Amino acid sequence: MKLNTKIIHAGVDPDPSTGAIMTPIFQTSTYVQTGPNEHKGYDYSRAGNPTRTALETAFAALENAKHGLAFSSGVAATDAVIRLLKPGDEVIAANDMYGGTYRLFSKLWADFGIKFIYIDTTKTEHISAAITGQTKMIWLETPTNPLMNITDIEATAAIAKKAKALLVVDNTFASPYLQNPLDLGADIVMHSATKYLGGHSDVIMGALMMNDDSLREKLFFIQKSSGAVPGPMDCFLVLRGVKTLHIRMQRHCENGRKVAEFLAGHPKVKKVYWCGFENSNGYAVARKQMRDFGGMMSFELADESVDAAIKVLKGTRIIALAESLGGVESLINHPATMTHASVPREERIKNGLSDSLIRLSIGIEDADDLIDDLKLAIG
Ligand SMILES: *Cc1c(COP(=O)(O)O)cnc(C)c1O
Repeated sequence: MKLNTKIIHAGVDPDPSTGAIMTPIFQTSTYVQTGPNEHKGYDYSRAGNPTRTALETAFAALENAKHGLAFSSGVAATDAVIRLLKPGDEVIAANDMYGGTYRLFSKLWADFGIKFIYIDTTKTEHISAAITGQTKMIWLETPTNPLMNITDIEATAAIAKKAKALLVVDNTFASPYLQNPLDLGADIVMHSATKYLGGHSDVIMGALMMNDDSLREKLFFIQKSSGAVPGPMDCFLVLRGVKTLHIRMQRHCENGRKVAEFLAGHPKVKKVYWCGFENSNGYAVARKQMRDFGGMMSFELADESVDAAIKVLKGTRIIALAESLGGVESLINHPATMTHASVPREERIKNGLSDSLIRLSIGIEDADDLIDDLKLAIG
């Protein structure tokens, strides 16, 4: 079955007791048993809930995976993955990934004896060079947030396999519509379903997808034991959201291209970071591993002062100033003070994320209106 069909039908079977075509919201904590431990597959909603099962089946289908697991947030999904490790283990991670992932790694997990090595993963030889006998995991984000750096997933998977380390890819920015890391050799895909999967900025959720049965068992055990599970109402909302992922993504990509080209041609814009430009660093790899280039981009003004950036951030009328991304509405954001405030300034600048960088999540409005809005704000 092709993706566009799977997105709509995976996990969703008519309710056997009523015929309802939509998966009911099973707002229940427990399930009546006919005898001790004799039940219909559900005993307590932390371990399993039918609305969540439907969504987890859909998650698996989206990434061509055998298994899917839903978490109460993207960072809860990331946290569950790190719980696969033990003190002394090393993780190689990208140096410009999502600020909340960096915070979880460096401020929480580093205290438990897990070592994180942050490198520029866009050059896979840097990854090979960072491998030691203790390397147990490689954590990739591609495209990265917010500089849209691209790392070759297939090449990294080969390095991980040789090192007997797990390759985990945060696929939030691309969405499964544009990129499927498991097909390229990754072991686990992670999503902040808060973003494109949910798609409507109305829910916080995380997802993990994997093929390996024993990996699924370990992660399911962590999910059930540490309990960061989403409620049935949120599962219903994301299940509804994923059904339009393909048509939303088509428009995000179309609008993304139009806005990126407009910005690139604007005399007051110095640089646009968008992986669909043929002259961008990651273009060749992006072409190889992604189906299109999406609606995420960042840019810097020719006037590099923070004040000039703030004027643009405050100046848009349709594009809202807010954290997050991947919803139907366009958002503008200042990584230095918003999404990446938890990354130390020195580290941020070293990784190329300037104080004046502006990030855009281009939504599915009319592109002409978005361009007019940016024209007005940039002046
Ligand atoms: C938002 C985001 C996360 C964290 O997900 P939450 O749902 O906010 O917990 C992780 N990675 C990326 C790339 C994100 O954009």
